[in-house]
Amino acid sequence: MTLNPQDTALTGGEIIVDLGALVENYNQLKSQAAPADVAAVVKADAYGLGTSVVVKALLGAGCDRFFVAHLDEALAVRAVTSEAEVYVLNGLWAGAEATAIAADIIPVLNSLDQLLRWRKAAQSQGRKLPAVLQIDTGMARLGLPAEEIAEVVDDPGLLSDYDLRYVMSHFACADDRRSPVTADQALAFERLVSQLPSAPRSIANSAACLSQAHRPGDLVRAGLALYGGAPFSEGPNPMRPVLRVRARVVQIRRVPEGAGIGYGHTYHAQSPRQIATIAVGYADGWPRNLSNRGAAYLGDKRLPIIGQVSMDSTMVDISDLEPGELKSGDYVDLIGPHQTIEEVAALSGTISYEILTNLSRRFSRRYLHLEPSR
Ligand SMILES: *Cc1c(COP(=O)(O)O)cnc(C)c1O
Repeated sequence: MTLNPQDTALTGGEIIVDLGALVENYNQLKSQAAPADVAAVVKADAYGLGTSVVVKALLGAGCDRFFVAHLDEALAVRAVTSEAEVYVLNGLWAGAEATAIAADIIPVLNSLDQLLRWRKAAQSQGRKLPAVLQIDTGMARLGLPAEEIAEVVDDPGLLSDYDLRYVMSHFACADDRRSPVTADQALAFERLVSQLPSAPRSIANSAACLSQAHRPGDLVRAGLALYGGAPFSEGPNPMRPVLRVRARVVQIRRVPEGAGIGYGHTYHAQSPRQIATIAVGYADGWPRNLSNRGAAYLGDKRLPIIGQVSMDSTMVDISDLEPGELKSGDYVDLIGPHQTIEEVAALSGTISYEILTNLSRRFSRRYLHLEPSR
């Protein structure tokens, strides 16, 4: 590992992204998915880690298919690679077809409306356009519902203007290995795709790929596990951690017994305390509902958050540290070896996906690159 030197004197905190671990996670998913392929889901700025660097690292590992949610995210991937296939999960808004065609972006068609618009675009181009057809197998979010699938089955012409790359669906409960919903959806998928023109299949996300309870189809769409998030809601996390989030100490002070700490004085010191103010708050994506409950870490030492998390700063109690052990300008860990993304998520009442994607542009992002192979 080599550090990419970058000035962190400009920001209150940094996210350190281990690209070697990212690639290892990709390879692990690939070996679990084989013979299926693995596409990387890089929506929401690659779950907050930074699209362009993540895409480049994965291209280097042989990944040649990327999924995003919006067309502008697709263009950001296209800016990095002219070769890879780029898919837009939400499909296209009316009027966006020409932009997508010019940049060679492939929409997921989720509704008859999207299907008809892309068909019109294909006809005016005088050629088949690539597309993915999503069908709803029991999530009621995106994809053709049963009655629209029936229309497509009755009128095969509806799909004749496409180069149908995949028929896809998405699991609602794949993170819960005990949920019966996943098996029901897998069955519904088999039943529905057998009525449609034959095309490769894509149904599994990270969790569905790793659980190996169901066939992953021909293409896995992996997001969270690539970035080191735990794919299952219970049990050990089989993925390598990819990111570490650190915040800098702005100021250290001693407060007397009874002192009120932070906005609203939601905390009062029960005894004289040593307090550090760190330069990360809720505007950085550090959840405000960690007020009086979460912690930062110095090595393995837990530094409890006291008072309300503010917009730009958070106070932690460092009374248990040795004098001088933590100084202003030093870093403490918010996510790292002693506090996982999942722990932060559970403490703040949300899921790891939301913690990752909320980490704001305020953090500087530093990338640990792969050693060049010799
Ligand atoms: C976000 C998303 C994925 C990736 O899911 P992970 O759980 O992060 O692996 C896959 N497919 C669809 C349709 C998605 O929206």
